[in-house]
Amino acid sequence: METERTPLISIVVPLYKEAANLRGFLSEVTGELSKTGFRFELMCVDDGSPDETWNILSEEARTFPNLRAVRLSRNFGKELALCAGLEHARGDAVIVMDGDGQHPPALLPEMVRLWQTTKVDVVEAVKTKRGPESFSGRIGALFFYVVLNKLAGVNLKGVSDFKLMNRRAVDAWLQMEERNVFFRGMTAWLGFTRVQIPFEVSRRAGGQTGWSFPNRLKLALTGISAFSSLPLQFVTIAGLLFFAFSIVFGLYTLVLQLAGRSVSGFATVILLLLIIGSLLMLSLGIIGEYLARIYEEVKGRPRYVIASSIEPQDSTP
Ligand code: UDP
Ligand code: MG
Repeated sequence: METERTPLISIVVPLYKEAANLRGFLSEVTGELSKTGFRFELMCVDDGSPDETWNILSEEARTFPNLRAVRLSRNFGKELALCAGLEHARGDAVIVMDGDGQHPPALLPEMVRLWQTTKVDVVEAVKTKRGPESFSGRIGALFFYVVLNKLAGVNLKGVSDFKLMNRRAVDAWLQMEERNVFFRGMTAWLGFTRVQIPFEVSRRAGGQTGWSFPNRLKLALTGISAFSSLPLQFVTIAGLLFFAFSIVFGLYTLVLQLAGRSVSGFATVILLLLIIGSLLMLSLGIIGEYLARIYEEVKGRPRYVIASSIEPQDSTP
């Protein structure tokens, strides 16, 4: 029998325009979790969806006693929605998963079993095969992983947002107070003991991806600038290289001038101007990127704003 001492498992699900398949998803997850014999709660975060997502959650909450939900005041993006979910989850173990069916609920009992038997802090589901994606998405992801791996030493290949964290890991995660949240990278940074289970990303059950290309690019830039200051050193290195080059080229020009054979260098001047100009602007851009991150953090705004929430009638966990 379930008692107060039975561990509580929280499932954190960020939802953006997932109305199409939400009911099916909720009942599937509930079904899988009942198999584990643990108490559980579903912590859904509606990331300001313009569609029926919130209405469906309110309706379902009448029949699912384990459903809790918060609605953000606008679309804050998946990472911040996850943040809201993690802050509100009360479980001894928290499982984070997508609400679009791409993270198979059938894996939940196995994750819980591994957590119980191995006593590790993090059980992470690793993609053996990426889901059906656009070619540009695939290339973009690969490029991003390689860059992040080289720059920050964080290996994220195959790592997904589908993972179980115990209370200790969640509390440690919540201590990271940055506004530029990158869930995957931050959990990798945390360390802790972990086991991996492979899974295949399935097709979306319905609706369509809420990520646009600019969103992905923004996440990639956040990830890189949050995990590495190497791009800043690139500016210094480029400066040094140019300095060395300028000495050589300067001496060469001087010698030619003294020998009375100065270069008729219109093309050279234009070329140098263009190269130096773009290098300067690129460097300023890199510095600006970090400046923007600092500015965002320094403002100290809340990470997200909650518009409303649903708690079950007897809300003792
Ligand atoms: N999502 C969100 N806010 C957003 C975009 C997405 O909460 O602005 C949620 C979405 O509802 C889903 C999860 O994040 O549960 C993953 O989103 P999606 O399937 O669009 O991303 P992909 O699987 O393509 O990485
Ligand atoms: Mg998806």
